[in-house]
Amino acid sequence: MTERPHLAVVGAGPAGLAAALAAAARGVRVTLVDAAGQAGGQFYRQPAAALGARRPKALHHQWRTWERLRDGLDRQRSAGRIEHLTDHHVWCVERLTGDGTFGVHALRGPAQEEGVTVRADAVLLATGGYERVLPFPGWTLPGVVTAGGAQAMLKGGLVLPGRTAVVAGTGPLLLPVAAGLAAAGARVAALVESAGPAALLRRAPALAGQPGKLAEGAGYATRLLRHGVRTLARHTVVAAHGTERLTAVTVAALDGAGRVRPGASRRVRCDTLAVGHGMLPHTDLAETLGCTLSGTAVRVDAEQRTDVPGVWAAGEATGVGGAGLALAEGHIAGRSAAARLRGTAPDPRGWAAAARSRTRLREFAAALDAVYAPPPGWAERVPDDTVVCRCEEVTAGEVRGAVDRLGAADLRTVKLLSRAGMGWCQGRMCAPGVAGLTGCPLTAGRRPFARPVPLGVLAALPESD
Ligand SMILES: Cc1cc2nc3c(=O)[nH]c(=O)nc-3n(C[C@H](O)[C@H](O)[C@H](O)COP(=O)(O)OP(=O)(O)OC[C@H]3O[C@@H](n4cnc5c(N)ncnc54)[C@H](O)[C@@H]3O)c2cc1C
Repeated sequence: MTERPHLAVVGAGPAGLAAALAAAARGVRVTLVDAAGQAGGQFYRQPAAALGARRPKALHHQWRTWERLRDGLDRQRSAGRIEHLTDHHVWCVERLTGDGTFGVHALRGPAQEEGVTVRADAVLLATGGYERVLPFPGWTLPGVVTAGGAQAMLKGGLVLPGRTAVVAGTGPLLLPVAAGLAAAGARVAALVESAGPAALLRRAPALAGQPGKLAEGAGYATRLLRHGVRTLARHTVVAAHGTERLTAVTVAALDGAGRVRPGASRRVRCDTLAVGHGMLPHTDLAETLGCTLSGTAVRVDAEQRTDVPGVWAAGEATGVGGAGLALAEGHIAGRSAAARLRGTAPDPRGWAAAARSRTRLREFAAALDAVYAPPPGWAERVPDDTVVCRCEEVTAGEVRGAVDRLGAADLRTVKLLSRAGMGWCQGRMCAPGVAGLTGCPLTAGRRPFARPVPLGVLAALPESD
């Protein structure tokens, strides 16, 4: 009997799950590797089993889709077609010399001190995205969390980050976060969105193509109204206040050019600020493999193949566009990988419906992207003494100095001259802020490892790896 080809899928969010199920259903052995303790990714993040949540559904949208993915995964696992490795943090994927297979190197468990390598014939990267948070005075105070972080506490830990929250920044994620916090019992003092209604109207034709998405947005807006949450469009948080922890924020009105309107600011008392300015794709593993990026996302073809043979990518890693897009891309990627691994050319007619929804959802995502850009003047408002890189405690003044006094012209040189981005998170938090403050383009980080690795794990790798 010939052995079934083996696909390693990194990421068990909507994209990775859809890909794993599509490939497993077509005769491929799949190892699904994810850092989280349970499948679901960001959108379908589940509470820990030990919490005994009675109605986890209450915190979710599109629960039926989740049930279908979860039940499909259970069935394929029982049939031995998918192995799901939870709590496995992948730090590098490489093509192994010799047989041309891939090595997916992970650290196992919460301590992340034990190395594990999965060997596979092909790899599918479905690592999702992460939040962009731009700096402002007070953003490092306890009580200031990312919008997605607040949601993760609620969905994953069933806890509220505080009693009185302001949700601020820009992007569609702010709506479910504010609605979720309010429904769970927090007082949401304000939802502060820097984009204005005019920007939405300008993109109305493209947005109208996805009535389901618009209805979802309207649903959140209705829930916010019901909870008495004030929405301040074309406003921004310019400062967070407090000594030991957050006690209030200053919210300012913006003019049409994104500048603060003089005399139009107010102080809002709160113990939590959930803030986010959109999302960026996770590309570290793809970069190490040598995949070409398109802007900040992994570039893929119509089959979701990267330009490195044997490597597919799907979901937010290839461009931020929501769970529906991630599902469509994952499905296509899984089917393509299955066919190619069996030595046949895939028939795109088999995934025509997914391809149509991918096209529509990418158009919708591009329109949203244009609406929810950070306001143009944000970088000028950051005073020199604001810490921008919190790992290395580098201020905005030091970052600006690397360009103005020392002549840096790209993010890498700014990092070398100021240490901004040299710490534990390797610039994941501060790179967009540093790029905005210095005017340097936001380029890929070129990190050989996707996360810190103990020396003992590196030393234990076989020589050929
Ligand atoms: C914090 C956050 C909150 C969000 N909330 C909402 C929301 O409320 N509503 C909405 O419509 N959209 C939301 N989104 C967007 C939505 O999550 C995505 O559109 C959708 O989940 C994308 O699916 P995906 O499979 O591409 O990625 P994800 O769902 O992000 O899944 C990626 C998976 O990859 C795993 N992973 C990443 N890197 C590694 C690694 N190195 N090793 C091992 N595993 C790894 C992660 O643990 C994760 O499970 C949110 C996104 C984020 C980042």
